[in-house]
Amino acid sequence: MYHRCRTAPSEVRFRLRREAFFGCCKCGNPLIENAHIIEYPITKQFPIEDMLALCPNCHTEADLGYYPKFVLRDLKQNPFNKNKRYLQKRFVVTGEKLIINTGSSRFINTERIFTINDFDLVSITRKEGLYLSLNINLFDKYNRLIALIYDNFWIVDRSYLWDVEYKPQHLILRKKSRDIVLDIQIKNEEIFLRGNLYYNGFLIPIKPQNMSIGGVTIRNFTIENAGGGISIQVPQYRPRIY
Ligand SMILES: [Zn+2]
Repeated sequence: MYHRCRTAPSEVRFRLRREAFFGCCKCGNPLIENAHIIEYPITKQFPIEDMLALCPNCHTEADLGYYPKFVLRDLKQNPFNKNKRYLQKRFVVTGEKLIINTGSSRFINTERIFTINDFDLVSITRKEGLYLSLNINLFDKYNRLIALIYDNFWIVDRSYLWDVEYKPQHLILRKKSRDIVLDIQIKNEEIFLRGNLYYNGFLIPIKPQNMSIGGVTIRNFTIENAGGGISIQVPQYRPRIY
């Protein structure tokens, strides 16, 4: 059994992300992990020339031996996001403004979307005027951090089973219970975000019509060129005693 290693030094991780143009080398999924072409238990090191950025699904396929090493090396040299054939399928926004739609509200050039108790729950930035970089914290209803997207790196507690679905320009994260946790889609050069997030035990449903945080329903407003989007204070989480 091949054990994944997720502790590559940050310099290695960011160089892998850059050379992959901020997505999986195989399919362009913006969620990436560090994959080893020469298995980590053999090298016990992080030689960047023997590593590449893959999404969780392609990484699993690589671990299962679906791709010979020469294929992985070719993907590293010619990642999806660099391939001109896939220009229209990349997870990028090329327009002048970065527009994020959530629950009928619009965040224009406002990267920090939800700040709760001064904690950034969701922020989406653009790198090199094109590639989207996601920073999202996913908690469960017991206020446990169950997954983290950190500058597109997918860092997850393996005791939770996740279903990561990616079609061009559309990322859907589900827990194995089938609950959709997060849905991010690019349509007509704009980002549409839906899902069911949690913070401090509060459910934050983000639907096409509205979203609500801590009993406050938010709809139909626009924030433009702001340092921060929605900032809300909610009570500290208190575990329920059964
Ligand atoms: Zn992939």
